[in-house]
Amino acid sequence: MTIGNQTSTRFKDEIRIVAPWVFFFAVLTFLAMVVLVVVLAGRDHSAPPLALRCLLGVVAGALLGCYVVLIGYINRDAGRRRMSRLLWTLVAIFVPNGIGILLYFVLRKPRTANCPQCHADVEPGFSFCPRCRNRLQPVCPHCQRGVNPADKFCPYCGAALEMAAGMPPSAAPTQP
Ligand SMILES: [Zn+2]
Ligand SMILES: [Zn+2]
Repeated sequence: MTIGNQTSTRFKDEIRIVAPWVFFFAVLTFLAMVVLVVVLAGRDHSAPPLALRCLLGVVAGALLGCYVVLIGYINRDAGRRRMSRLLWTLVAIFVPNGIGILLYFVLRKPRTANCPQCHADVEPGFSFCPRCRNRLQPVCPHCQRGVNPADKFCPYCGAALEMAAGMPPSAAPTQP
């Protein structure tokens, strides 16, 4: 399936930005949690039976491991979005119950794209590259505002767009 493949490729690309040592640390956290729940909690006589402790340990360890990977992801992703890496890593770690992580994904800025001509950072919504004046998205020939490539008429001034709105797909800025 094409859609499934695209989604998994995107996920792989995203997860690749996480530093390798973060995965190592996540595995360590997982193992530590399993040992803690299965072995140490087992010393208590009122502890649940071994099978249940194994299950609990694996679930808790997996959750904690995912938490570590997510924090590692936020640490790198914030930098790509021109947000403070230190601040958001601290928020993700110290705001309890995963709320810091949730907050990051709600508040994160869109990723900046690159101009296909000079590779300068361009923000979403820019019609022209601020460095080399390369056209990034089609503009209305009459009022010079950005328009959708599929539009036939300018939504701002009503001018016909069929002639000028055409833009080769290769000129589109690279989107995340
Ligand atoms: Zn440019
Ligand atoms: Zn217009």
